[in-house]
Amino acid sequence: MAKLIYEGKAKQMWSTDDPEVLRVVYMDQATALNGKKKDQINGKGIVNNEISSLIFQYLMKKGIETHFIKKLSETEELVKKVEIVPLEMVTRNVSAGHFATRFGVEEGICFETPVEETYYKSDELDDPFINESQSLALKIVKKEELDAMWDISRRVNEILTALFDRMGLILVDFKLEFGRLADGRIILADEISPDTSRLWDANGQHMDKDVFRRNIGDLVETYTEVLNLLENAK
Ligand code: ADP
Ligand code: UDP
Repeated sequence: MAKLIYEGKAKQMWSTDDPEVLRVVYMDQATALNGKKKDQINGKGIVNNEISSLIFQYLMKKGIETHFIKKLSETEELVKKVEIVPLEMVTRNVSAGHFATRFGVEEGICFETPVEETYYKSDELDDPFINESQSLALKIVKKEELDAMWDISRRVNEILTALFDRMGLILVDFKLEFGRLADGRIILADEISPDTSRLWDANGQHMDKDVFRRNIGDLVETYTEVLNLLENAK
C-alpha cells in the first residue's frame, strides 16, 4: 500500500509498488518566509505540476538527466526516488530578493557572470547560506558531486534562459535540487516552476511567487499566464 513518505510545504511524496519510484502530489498550498506566511490557494497544485512537468520534459529533450518519469494526473507525477542532497543551488542572472536586501542594492542589476549560491536545506536552521568548504567539511556532499551539480545548473540556466526569452520573460534567478540514484549518480530532482524561480516580463512585472510574497497579484492567474506562454514556446 502506498505510504506518505514526506509532506513538505508544497508537495507530498508517496511510495509506490516500485521501491525506486515515488508519486508526487502537488498541493494547493503556498508558503513564503520559510513557512511563516502560508495560504491555501485553489488551483496552484494543478498549474505548478503542469509547468514543472513541461520544464523537466524540455530539459530531458535537451539531454539533462532528471528524476521525472511521467505526469500521472492534474496534480500528480511519478519520479525516480533519489537521496536528496540537502543543498539548494541558487543561480542568479539579475539581482532580486534576498541578494538585493543582503547587499543593499536595487533589484534589476544584470550580472555579467551568473551569481551562484548554496543554502543548507534545513527548516529548523532557516536554510542558512553555506559555502563549498563548509559543505565539504560537514560531508553534506562530495567535491565531484558539487562540481557535477554546478555543471548541470549552468546548462539548465542556458537552456531555460533561452526558453523563457522566447516567451518574453527574463529568468532572474532560480533554485535547483539534486539527488543521488542508487548507483550514486547525481540527477536533477524536485521541481522547477514560478515557485522556485523569478520571472519578469518586459515591463518588469513579476510572473512568479513574488506576487504571493509581496501581495501584488493573483498567484494562479499569474502562473497560468506563464503556463500558456510555455505551451506555445516549448
Ligand atoms: P519542502 O521540503 O521544502 O517543504 P516540498 O513541499 O516541495 O518542499 O517537498 C518535496 C520534498 O521532496 C523536498 O524535500 C524535496 O527535496 C524532496 N524531493 C524532490 N524530488 C525528490 C525525489 N525524486 N526523491 C526523493 N525526494 C525528492
Ligand atoms: N528559492 C526557492 N526555495 C527556497 C529559497 C529560494 O525555490 O527555499 C528560490 C526563489 O524562488 C528564487 C531563488 O531561489 O527564485 C532565490 O531566492 P532568494 O535567495 O532571493 O530568497 P527569497 O527572496 O526567494 O526568499
